[in-house]
Amino acid sequence: MNSISIRHRFGEYSVDSLSPEQMWQSQIENSAAIIDKNVFDLWGQFLPEGLPRYIVVPGESSKSLSVYGEIAEFLVSIPLGRSGTIFAVGGGVVGDLAGFVAATYMRGVNWVNIPTTLLAMVDSSIGGKVGIDLQGGKNLLGSFWPPTQVRLAPEFLTTLPKRELRAGMAEVWKYAFIGNMGLFKQLKILSGRKSEDLSDVIEKCILDKAHIVEHDELETTGLRATLNFGHTVGHALETLLSYDDILHGEAISIGMVAESKIAEKLGLCPMNLVLEIADCLQMEGLPIHHSALNSADQLMTLMKSDKKSSSGRLAFSLVSEIGKCKLVPEVSEQVVRSVLVSNE
Ligand code: NAD
Ligand code: ZN
Repeated sequence: MNSISIRHRFGEYSVDSLSPEQMWQSQIENSAAIIDKNVFDLWGQFLPEGLPRYIVVPGESSKSLSVYGEIAEFLVSIPLGRSGTIFAVGGGVVGDLAGFVAATYMRGVNWVNIPTTLLAMVDSSIGGKVGIDLQGGKNLLGSFWPPTQVRLAPEFLTTLPKRELRAGMAEVWKYAFIGNMGLFKQLKILSGRKSEDLSDVIEKCILDKAHIVEHDELETTGLRATLNFGHTVGHALETLLSYDDILHGEAISIGMVAESKIAEKLGLCPMNLVLEIADCLQMEGLPIHHSALNSADQLMTLMKSDKKSSSGRLAFSLVSEIGKCKLVPEVSEQVVRSVLVSNE
């Protein structure tokens, strides 16, 4: 993978491909690692001996005020100075959490993101969004605080549970559906051949996201919101199920199929698009339906209260044909509801 440079309002950072062994070869004085426990157990041998580390309990529940506070106190105890660097090592949970600590500790310190899940490599490590959850909802406390570097090693994926890998593939397919016909064709060929090296696919996704976030870093023009394909329904479904027994990518897979049906209802896409999208996701081993979609009332309430929707309007990023999408700022409740309860 070539080095990719991403510009943002304060400067730029690079996404560099390195092996797990090379991750910490640079200067580690005045630094600390914040690392996922599963990743530490599997890959911790590569951490330099003297590097202070905080080990994060795996799971969304660690993106909390209490863990955030513990990490901040840990940094003070080292002590990590204002010119120090935080290394975030793990999936999206650790990236969001450690990034938010970096954004706020001593009014902001440098951080290096080392993503170890497919989702984190293609999505959460790119674009500078960091944050934690509150009782009232996900990512309610956050900031835009880009890392100083993303260090990427696809080798980490060799230990990632298959279900997590598939969930990450849902986001990969999303990039293909919304804007990358070349990637779509490549994925069709790759489908079912799970031992393939994903470096090239990961690079394509990063380039797509980089392009989008460079042009709409703070999500103000609507361009960045096109990345939300599948996420309006997907987020509501995850919340309804209390994040229990459903992974983000799985909810997004179900959401992409439901939202394609909305595009079809609105006459925005050809008739076969829903089937085509559903086929690709199913071939990947991803779910395309969930019985909880029948709880339309609750899902509608959740979608309207989502921080992405403005004044209760239901906005969707909808695919009009493979490789193209558009933002529809308001879709009627009736259309959304009819799609949710249909079991076609
Ligand atoms: P995650 O961080 O919970 O990791 C998933 C699981 O994989 C965990 O159990 C973890 O311990 C394990 N794991 C991680 N790397 C491993 C490896 N190499 N080998 C073995 N096990 C490994 O989940 P995720 O899907 O990476 O991230 C989800 C989070 O990302 C959510 O909190 C979501 O809100 C956030 N997110 C943020 C953005 C953003 O722009 N900031 C975008 C999308 C998602
Ligand atoms: Zn997502």
